[in-house]
Amino acid sequence: MTRSAVRTLGVVTAALIGISAAVAAKTPAPRPQSGTQSGTLDIYFIDVEGGQSTLLVTPTKESMLIDAGFAGDGTFNSKPGDPAVARDPQRILAAARDAGIARIDHLLVTHFHADHFGGVMELSQLLPIREFIDHGPPSAAADSAVPGTMALYQAYAAVRAKAVHRQPKAGERLQFGGIIADVLASDGTTLHTPLDGGPRVANSACTSGGVPAQEKLENPNSTAVRVQFGKFRFLDVGDLSGPPLYALTCPDNLIAQADVYLIAHHGGADGSDPSLFAAVKPRIAIFNNGARKGAQEPTLTALRSFGIEGWQLHKTANPGAVNNADAHIANLDQSTSAWIKLSARADGSFVVTNGRTGERTTYPAPAR
Ligand SMILES: [Zn+2]
Repeated sequence: MTRSAVRTLGVVTAALIGISAAVAAKTPAPRPQSGTQSGTLDIYFIDVEGGQSTLLVTPTKESMLIDAGFAGDGTFNSKPGDPAVARDPQRILAAARDAGIARIDHLLVTHFHADHFGGVMELSQLLPIREFIDHGPPSAAADSAVPGTMALYQAYAAVRAKAVHRQPKAGERLQFGGIIADVLASDGTTLHTPLDGGPRVANSACTSGGVPAQEKLENPNSTAVRVQFGKFRFLDVGDLSGPPLYALTCPDNLIAQADVYLIAHHGGADGSDPSLFAAVKPRIAIFNNGARKGAQEPTLTALRSFGIEGWQLHKTANPGAVNNADAHIANLDQSTSAWIKLSARADGSFVVTNGRTGERTTYPAPAR
């Protein structure tokens, strides 16, 4: 239960980790490896200023990176350049060093927008990437919605050609390092049957069709996964929005419940439909938002109406948006680039560390 969450002040080392995370992103020098705890699945929600980059490190130190932020200086127009000064790839490198890993075993690119895969080309020069997972080529029309997508995709395909490429369909299961990642959606298609088997359960919170996608070409093609480590469940749907997002929990809930939900599309208004929150019942929800991207008022409000605790990578300046408490926000402005780190145990308990303050919040194992 969220109300039973116990907030404890992190030890000095945790505070140092938080501070060094912010500093390391600006000065990409070698730094000590504080490492992961044995027996935990560690998840770093890396600040890529409103894009996505989420690093999962399993108890056996196998790594899965979900998206790689922007290229270069971090805009939709940025081109891949010198990896030594590439903002987001350097932030990912800092998280990898903190976790004590030296390569990316599995890179999942949820979809082909520059805020999710722009950083791949530079990152591949900083850390070897063993396997690429994606939904297959973007629609030829993708450039019309987000100019530059196809040029970036060609550069990506050239890097991908040097490694293993996997293109899983909805319903496929990836399994490695003690975790299971079930593919819920990809390339516009979604699960047809409930994830955990058993009967279909109608979701009474479904509205008439959900919320339309803000971008209708690539976002709805996002590869969405649910990661399981023992009893712990984490849901990351990328920028899935529109009908494929709605289909996961309406008219029936096909994806069961999850402890942690990285909110669709950075917490944009097209991720605000109550049907998913009602079905998945996350204990906490995380916004990988920027100062003015994602974390829009309808989604923050919907979350609050369900009593779900929210965590934000950035304080949002969006009109009408009511921020979560500062203790639940990694970056109060753009002068820092702290991550949110989550360490989950197989019993379903987990600890969330605010990288800016080092403060840790413990969520005990659920009763279920
Ligand atoms: Zn995005």
